[in-house]
Amino acid sequence: MEEAILITILTAMVGAFALIGIVFSYALPSPSQPDKASAAYYARLFLFFLWLGFVFLCLRALEMQALHVAGCNISFTLAAYMVYFTVVKRHGNQPRPSHMAWIIGHLVTVQLLSVLAFWLATPFWFSDTLLAISVFIPQVLALRAKYRSMDRRNPGDRVLCHLLWVNIVVCMISIPVYLLDAVTSGAQQMLLAMNVVVILMLNVMLGFAASVIHSLVVRLRKQIYQDPLTKCHNRHYLQDYASTFVDTMQVHREKVCVLVTDVDHFKSINDRYGHLTGDNALNHFTYQLQQELRDSDVLIRWGGEEFLVVLPGCTIEDAAKLAERLRQRVALQPLVIDTHSIALTASFGLADVARDCDLFAAIDRADSALYDAKSSGRDKVVVFDPNYRTDKTMSMAFQ
Ligand code: GH3
Ligand code: MG
Ligand code: MG
Repeated sequence: MEEAILITILTAMVGAFALIGIVFSYALPSPSQPDKASAAYYARLFLFFLWLGFVFLCLRALEMQALHVAGCNISFTLAAYMVYFTVVKRHGNQPRPSHMAWIIGHLVTVQLLSVLAFWLATPFWFSDTLLAISVFIPQVLALRAKYRSMDRRNPGDRVLCHLLWVNIVVCMISIPVYLLDAVTSGAQQMLLAMNVVVILMLNVMLGFAASVIHSLVVRLRKQIYQDPLTKCHNRHYLQDYASTFVDTMQVHREKVCVLVTDVDHFKSINDRYGHLTGDNALNHFTYQLQQELRDSDVLIRWGGEEFLVVLPGCTIEDAAKLAERLRQRVALQPLVIDTHSIALTASFGLADVARDCDLFAAIDRADSALYDAKSSGRDKVVVFDPNYRTDKTMSMAFQ
């Protein structure tokens, strides 16, 4: 009778814990891809099957052997497979049909062997060892799936991976302990099982949450620093990263130049061909710039049809040559839409980040050189000359 009360309390506690996990999973941000979103369903099913397995496990202590055999191993094995499905779906993948056939085969075999063991009245260690092997397979599959698809730079993915390892270790240690003679009484076994089940639930839910939250942070960070139209960096990126990066370059006495460019008469493209074509022209323009830039150069949409390029490790002479190549490329590569060919030109203002100025002062200088390029006819590269106040007559025009 006492055992029945204890078991009722323990199963209620584990049930409450699983329920908290299920409710918690609804509070997690949902991924944008429907396939990835379904991972949360499998995580909830994992909690449910683990709780169910625990209930069936407890039935053994109540001498309800037939029910215990009917549900225990299959529920725990299903719970372990739910972890596998959670991981697979978390990365937007599908289990292959051949894998599904193996999984169904495995579940059927587990069930048949459990019933056979009961029928042949084998000792408990037999069905418990069967359980250990049974839950080991899906856990290894989950880890393998995780290693295959994980983003190693994502700390959330790494946390989930480590917690999956912890789960394997916990299962591999606790099942033999459970079978040891030292743990004899049913109550002790129930308490041990409850602790293990709670640890497994906690690990999977925390690992899953860490993975989901970190992916969201990565996605948001990308969106914060990326211009949605041209996909190059935006002003936030410049403020948060580029200026620190340039400061570091200066500390190491590396040369840095800034180039500001603006599409000529862009408004007339919008007016003549429409805003959508204007957007295409902007994409075409940034594509042409990217073709000439090095990986280390940072292209930033400064606003409207104006762009900024930070050129690290580049002397002003080299930067001027690059700017001239960019100017020629833009002028020689018109945007072709259907039968229309839309010619584009751009003006460029260039300045180096001198020792006496920071990045934003250099951008100001490049901007005034750009103003000179515009006012002296457009489709030009003008370099800011630090020996003079920059104005129309004193900047060096490259054309
Ligand atoms: P200038 O040679 O002096 O630079 O002349 P401009 O016509 O290029 O310059 P202006 O500043 O008068 O016009 C810029 C235009 O760029 C006005 C604005 O509607 C357009 N524009 C800004 N952002 C976008 C965008 O994202 N898409 C499109 N299609 N147009 C944009
Ligand atoms: Mg313009
Ligand atoms: Mg402009």
